[in-house]
Amino acid sequence: MQNSYKELPENYECAYHINAKDTKTGIILNVFSLIIMVISMAICFIPLILNPDTVWEINIYTYLLSLSVTLLCIISYMVLHELVHGLAYKCLTKEKLTFGISWSCAFCGVPNVYVNRKTALISLTAPLITFSIIFIALTILMYFTNTIFYLCASALLSLHLGGCVGDIYMTALFLFKFKQKDLLMRDTGPEQFVYIKKQN
Ligand SMILES: [Zn+2]
Repeated sequence: MQNSYKELPENYECAYHINAKDTKTGIILNVFSLIIMVISMAICFIPLILNPDTVWEINIYTYLLSLSVTLLCIISYMVLHELVHGLAYKCLTKEKLTFGISWSCAFCGVPNVYVNRKTALISLTAPLITFSIIFIALTILMYFTNTIFYLCASALLSLHLGGCVGDIYMTALFLFKFKQKDLLMRDTGPEQFVYIKKQN
């Protein structure tokens, strides 16, 4: 099977459609995103609370510096996350990409083609895997540096995990609901369409 098709092959029908710009979908995704962030942040607090040697006093300059660096990292991360999706799509399809931001999410898509299951899964999970490794390593490293740096790294990790809610949702759909090896996906950025072979 090719990585992508310019036209939808015959005998395929749309089996699923999601639009992150749709009000209800956007709100649900963001609520789940927030839940993931809160759980992740709560887990990151556990080692601090359990360690009696944790230093909680924070120098105001360290605090301001950490806050500024973290904000810069968040903005860079949002761009890099979409670029990693784009890089995966570009390598696998060589097609024109689309990037954007809406009220509910930032997005990257490859709107002019229908991609196969492997391409969809690689592009969906590429930022999740890449940045989880980077931020988990950073969080562990910062744990041995100081409390505020650790909390900033934890916040980055949590924002990343929460921000991947749409990618996690689509990946779960492919792993548990649409297991067809010959399925196709069209990803316009905010919208994803899943196509499966007609049953006849
Ligand atoms: Zn993403």
